[in-house]
Amino acid sequence: MIDTPVRRDCPLGSHRVIEPAGALPQAAWRVDATPAAGPTELLCDVDVLNIDSASFTQIAAACNDDERAIAAHILDTVRTRGKQHNPVTGSGGMFVGRIADVGAGREDRDTLVAGERIASLVSLTLTPLHIEEILGVEIAAQRVRVRGSAILFASGLFAKLPDDIATTVALAVLDVAGAPAQVRRLAWPGNVVCVIGADGKSGILSCAQAKARVGESGRVVGIVPSAHTPGARLLVEAGYVDHLIEADARDTLAVLAAIPEALPTLADLVVNCVNVAGTELASILCARDEGTVYFFSMATSFTAAALGAEGVGKDVTMIVGNGYTKGHAEIALQTLRDRPVLHDYFNARYGARP
Ligand code: NAP
Repeated sequence: MIDTPVRRDCPLGSHRVIEPAGALPQAAWRVDATPAAGPTELLCDVDVLNIDSASFTQIAAACNDDERAIAAHILDTVRTRGKQHNPVTGSGGMFVGRIADVGAGREDRDTLVAGERIASLVSLTLTPLHIEEILGVEIAAQRVRVRGSAILFASGLFAKLPDDIATTVALAVLDVAGAPAQVRRLAWPGNVVCVIGADGKSGILSCAQAKARVGESGRVVGIVPSAHTPGARLLVEAGYVDHLIEADARDTLAVLAAIPEALPTLADLVVNCVNVAGTELASILCARDEGTVYFFSMATSFTAAALGAEGVGKDVTMIVGNGYTKGHAEIALQTLRDRPVLHDYFNARYGARP
């Protein structure tokens, strides 16, 4: 039998995988969440989990919006898998905490200080997490207060929390940082951009970035289930959208009916920011031929998108919403800093509760 040496310093975290053999932590069913830093790891004391919206929505529905049941559900997942990896949606979220210990072999060791507050920028689906206690569940903010520890690998991105933005607000923004950063890259002056799920965290940030990018000659159209939510009102009042379509994006025919008036030329870029399943075809139909559909939503089905586009004969480029884009954290936070009205909205919606 070949003796495989036990490595504790894989930059990708393979040494923490318990099963299945050969997987990296994101794909693993179960990882070792022992709260002690290996040579290239960062051990963090965790106090807040920002649960991914698609995941939280699924858990809350399964638990009938009962805070105790949601807490028990999350504890069970973390104890079973060693990470907050929702087996139904496949998504996670991110954490906020303090650096507790820095592995002796980390290259960035000299820049890290124990006690410093950070937010993880890699998914909880690959982050070894040990929860001692759940202190509270905030359903509206999709946030869970905990006493626990997490491990970041050498490859694990994180951000030091800014002084000028409230921690819980920064957490909400950083969770979806990939969306506004990608929109900045994908939208061009004069473009028509359509954002589906426009009044959520990633949707509003995407609309704000899109509006800045398309300029006077472009248009931004949002699709929201209700035009009367505070987020939807902000979009109109702050001018982040030129038009709002009030429709359930799962109702493809309803979206189709709204297109002639709201999107007569169809969209160059469609950004899907919803937290529910079944909106792929509406997204595809809003895009012009040879346009781009950016699926940021974790509730996106590859099969529904690929077969849906084929079925309606739409030659569109479809992009999977990579959570990481170069400079995404800074771009997302700056989106808030540059827009006091948006910052006020995020403070009111995602600021810390007493
Ligand atoms: P959020 O704040 O909860 O926003 C979701 C939005 O979708 C809400 O505005 C909601 O409207 C809207 N919506 C729900 N059902 C809809 C429907 N049937 N038709 C039209 N709009 C609908 O979520 P978020 O934090 O921005 O996250 C959005 C998505 O991105 C989620 O799927 C999340 O899992 C995913 N995500 C992806 C990444 C990545 O790396 N790709 C990272 C983080 C999050 P109402 O509130 O009015 O119901």
